[in-house]
Amino acid sequence: MRPVLSLFVFIDACGWQIIKDDPFVRRVAPHRRQLRSVFGYSSACIPSILSGRYPSEHRNWSYFVYDPAHSPFQSLRWMRWLPSALTSRRRVRNVLSAWAKRRLGFKGYFDLYNMPFRDIAHYDFTEKKSPLRPGGMNRGTNIFDFLTERRIPYHVSEPARGEAGNLTALIDDLKTETLDFAFLYWPQLDGLMHRVGNDAPEVPAMLRDYERRIDQLMAVAQAHYEDVRLYIFSDHGMANCDEHIDLRARIDALGLRLHVDYAVVYDSTMARFWFHHEAARQKITTCLERIPQGEILSDAELTDLGTYFPDRYFGELIYLLREGTLIVPSHMGARPIRAMHGYHPDEPHSFAALMSNQPHVPAGITAIPDMYKLMTHEAEAAHTANCAGRHATVLAS
Ligand SMILES: [Zn+2]
Repeated sequence: MRPVLSLFVFIDACGWQIIKDDPFVRRVAPHRRQLRSVFGYSSACIPSILSGRYPSEHRNWSYFVYDPAHSPFQSLRWMRWLPSALTSRRRVRNVLSAWAKRRLGFKGYFDLYNMPFRDIAHYDFTEKKSPLRPGGMNRGTNIFDFLTERRIPYHVSEPARGEAGNLTALIDDLKTETLDFAFLYWPQLDGLMHRVGNDAPEVPAMLRDYERRIDQLMAVAQAHYEDVRLYIFSDHGMANCDEHIDLRARIDALGLRLHVDYAVVYDSTMARFWFHHEAARQKITTCLERIPQGEILSDAELTDLGTYFPDRYFGELIYLLREGTLIVPSHMGARPIRAMHGYHPDEPHSFAALMSNQPHVPAGITAIPDMYKLMTHEAEAAHTANCAGRHATVLAS
């Protein structure tokens, strides 16, 4: 037996509203609280958790940015000749995305989403490295750099292995009794809720399935570690989308020329604009101000959210919809999806959750970037205890 294991189970989109009235993991992790999320998608939230910093500091925020000078996508421009009846299909996009990811050498998550191949060479993709690896941040370090530097033995999931594969890999590693820290990554609840919504019967069914897997994990962990300090947590919640807005049609109607007068990325809950001249800025700003479903975020608000970039790298103007509204079509999808996240962190369904078997989680752990403090603290504590345990064994023998 090894003395201590710090075990962190990350469940994407397992928000506070999802588990608030559900007995999810109450038996193994009865101490629960809500956490404030970070403005942005998982591309912003997960790096914030792993680094303890906000996007304005680590510069992992939204995936696509207008940056023709640095676009890696010149080599994909031939794809614009593929018939759109083919390229608009999700399965075809998945195959093309996997091919492009390999060809471009991207190591993180990559999806072409609904980016038009005609324009793709105007854009750069901002997650070329995997935040789940040492050296994976756009700026600064993450938990895996921390662990590597201190020689703390750890396990982390590899998304390509899938949820069941990652569970098996972790269980195999636990049995070697060599770990101080483990980070398990489960993204499927997020995908499910995007499809079926946050209140469909499939959601509690998946929670029950997760509970069974966590029980299995804990049984192995407790057979090999005297003290298993378990933390189950998420990055954001999920809101049902009942209202769709065709923002692109409104902007197109202004008669401005894309990439001559302005550039834009239509994410699913926000739109980010870049302007080539002042008249374009004025026209688009006036148009957006007349749309009641959202608002232009001020620099003060963006600063407050930790997503203000003085170089405007991710957009000169950020327009955000209110919860429950979806941009359709967008660069993320041609068709509506049932539910989405990426609204203001103070919207009711944005909040993330933390559940633990530890009764004394410090009061200062209130937002998802605080998870970094908790993870590093727990990893060091486990490492110290396990080193002391090893010394004691050596002395006794
Ligand atoms: Zn998602």
